[in-house]
Amino acid sequence: MNNRFEGLVTLVTGAASGLGRASAERLAAEGAKVVAVDLSDAVHEVAASLPEAIGVVGDVSSENDVDASMRAAIDAFGQVDRFHLNAGIFGSFEFLPDIELADFERVMRVNVVGQFLGLRAAFRHYRDRRASGAIAVTASIASRRAGHDLLAYHTSKHAVTGLVKGAATYGGPIGVRVNAVAPGIVPTGLFRAAASQTGGGDDMVRRASTTPMRRAGDPAEIAGVVAFLLSDDAAYTTGEIVGADGGASIINPVRP
Ligand code: NAD
Repeated sequence: MNNRFEGLVTLVTGAASGLGRASAERLAAEGAKVVAVDLSDAVHEVAASLPEAIGVVGDVSSENDVDASMRAAIDAFGQVDRFHLNAGIFGSFEFLPDIELADFERVMRVNVVGQFLGLRAAFRHYRDRRASGAIAVTASIASRRAGHDLLAYHTSKHAVTGLVKGAATYGGPIGVRVNAVAPGIVPTGLFRAAASQTGGGDDMVRRASTTPMRRAGDPAEIAGVVAFLLSDDAAYTTGEIVGADGGASIINPVRP
């Protein structure tokens, strides 16, 4: 294991489970002090399992909670050097005519407004400190593709790529890199929630067997890409949406 984050403070959202937890663990294993943020108070257990970390309960789609997370990070560690803005939700598996407005808005609120608030907080913090830095955002294969269900989710993840490219354009001249990881199918809590709706979770894992690598991913495999993007190994990479999907996004759907 490298030690690329020795002495660096890294804030990870959605850190109580799944990809966020794996990312917090990977960054900590490479020397980072971690600020683990999540809606769920299980984030405290994650923080307690890491060498130097705090857990903060907060909603990424709330301006007040995002400010409070930053204050907690600064109180604990003085600054934040790297961000992994990762929290996200699926929303409804209904088809277009049956999607409730409230469900569509909830997904956009967490996945798009939440990422906007995180990016804005990160850029304000870098500006205050006149510091350079790096931010990784969790996009999705749903940032490149669409399907007949999860319309709000696909829409929100397409929007995330706009946020990443816009933020990277602004950040380039001031030394702040912004990239996204776009995972494919990785069984996590998101899938357990999906399984309760129209068999969604099981179906997705089955679909993973038709992708080029013929399997679902592991959270640690996504965390490895996040660590790369946040490290100086990616020093000349910004505005990229980096796939981590076993090749799922490159295949011709009529000749898989
Ligand atoms: P997960 O459900 O295991 O983890 C998501 C975490 O985010 C949970 O701990 C949850 O409590 C937290 N969260 C949800 N809403 C929040 C909010 N408003 N504020 C703060 N925390 C909140 O799911 P996951 O698969 O680890 O998902 C993480 C990210 O990865 C999401 O953005 C998701 O869209 C993306 N993603 C996942 C997959 C996959 O296959 N698992 C694929 C592509 C993209």
